Amino acid sequence: MATAIATDYELVVGLEVHVELRTRSKMFCACSADWFGKPPNTQVCPTCLALPGALPAINKQAIEYAVMVGLALHADVENLPNGKPTRFDRKNYTYPDLPKGYQITQMDIPVNLGGWLEISLPDGGSKRVGITRAHQEEDTAKLIHRVDEMGEAHSLVDFNRAGVPLLEIVSEPDMRSPEEASAYLRTLRNILLYLGVTDARMEEGSFRCDANCSIRPVGSTEFGRKVEVKNMNSFRSVERALRYEFERQKQALAKGETIAQETRGWDEDKGVTVSQRSKEYAHDYRYFPEPDLPPLYLAPEWIEAIKRRMPELPAAKKARYVSDYGLPEEAARLIADDPAYADFFESALFTGYKDGKQIATWMLGDLTRLLKAHNTELADSLVTPSKLVDLLKLIDAGQISGKIGKDVLEEVFASGSLPEDVVREKGLTQISDEGDLERLVAAVIAANPKSVEDFRAGKMPALQFLVGQVMKETKGRANPGKVNDILRKQLEA
Ligand SMILES: [Zn+2]
Repeated sequence: MATAIATDYELVVGLEVHVELRTRSKMFCACSADWFGKPPNTQVCPTCLALPGALPAINKQAIEYAVMVGLALHADVENLPNGKPTRFDRKNYTYPDLPKGYQITQMDIPVNLGGWLEISLPDGGSKRVGITRAHQEEDTAKLIHRVDEMGEAHSLVDFNRAGVPLLEIVSEPDMRSPEEASAYLRTLRNILLYLGVTDARMEEGSFRCDANCSIRPVGSTEFGRKVEVKNMNSFRSVERALRYEFERQKQALAKGETIAQETRGWDEDKGVTVSQRSKEYAHDYRYFPEPDLPPLYLAPEWIEAIKRRMPELPAAKKARYVSDYGLPEEAARLIADDPAYADFFESALFTGYKDGKQIATWMLGDLTRLLKAHNTELADSLVTPSKLVDLLKLIDAGQISGKIGKDVLEEVFASGSLPEDVVREKGLTQISDEGDLERLVAAVIAANPKSVEDFRAGKMPALQFLVGQVMKETKGRANPGKVNDILRKQLEA
């Protein structure tokens, strides 16, 4: 009998992300695009309901947002105007959430072709993930499945979402682990939030992700059979689903089975993927150019104008935090990656306080710990940038110690009070008065003859013990540097 040789496999992942663009109106009509939570079918018109004779018109703001995303992802936006206008196509299929019987999307000439996104890896390195394309399309209506009081099942359609602008961002199959996939998604989401083109709420469906994954023997350059995984609505579920698929596909191959090319849905509760349908092929959609919309020429000067309006993105921010404020790479990345953190950090510096390193240390240390412990977002926290700066100034001025500062921060976090009020009300001011400290030290010396003896015999830990006793007496309010000096002076006298 032949001995089975264990093969090492690697996971290959490409991601498709659908982002709802936060324009005021829908992609091809004047209805409000702000559909979430609105009474059903109140934001509709002949165009998004696909009534006969209604014609679409392109939303300029949506195209501008798509161009911004393209520029941020290093896509070949500039080359489009060179005789090649971008174009819309019809993707034909029938489903109750699609009133026209086709979706207007982009096939051959999307707004954005090519590009890349740099992601930070769990081991500290970084990696470029290729972007295939980012094309503009429209969202479908929303189906609501209900069972009435008679026990009969119904499906209802809400057309408020029909025609909301979507941007589909397709990556190359460049990711090799569930962690890389979630790093890609986090990085992409942060960039989109910086651009302000979407609110990217995964739980509300304005940032949706499908994963194409396959496995292959390590070292192979060919791709295995591709499985598409859907229904993942958090970064965590993306990681879990991919980890599950990696194991499932490895086990299938080990049993001598072939991997079916299919679409599978992630079942969050059971922690498994379930086969939904075998994959239809692109030609089934009978794509053809949308006859109701003209090809769209993006003027180079318009793209230039958009470029000038682009906000500073995380990579540039990170570099600036390192060079201008001397932040360590990792701290700079953690703050720059998150728009709320970057905003807080820069607002704190805007008060005129110069020590960026100190701000970063407190933000990433004690403040983040409090946010996590209370499950609060930084933007909703009662600790504002100016309150943190006030606290740091109290510490810098020697009015409170760093240790007391932590307690004050907790109190500000809980009540929203000003740091100086907390310090005054709780009597936390640091004792720096020489006379007071001398009396305290003398009392501690008198009460601890053994430690005094040890110190005089050259045992240095005894000094630390005595300093600790003074700090204890004053509940941490004594200025430790001064206590140290006075202790030495009195002991060596
Ligand atoms: Zn409409």
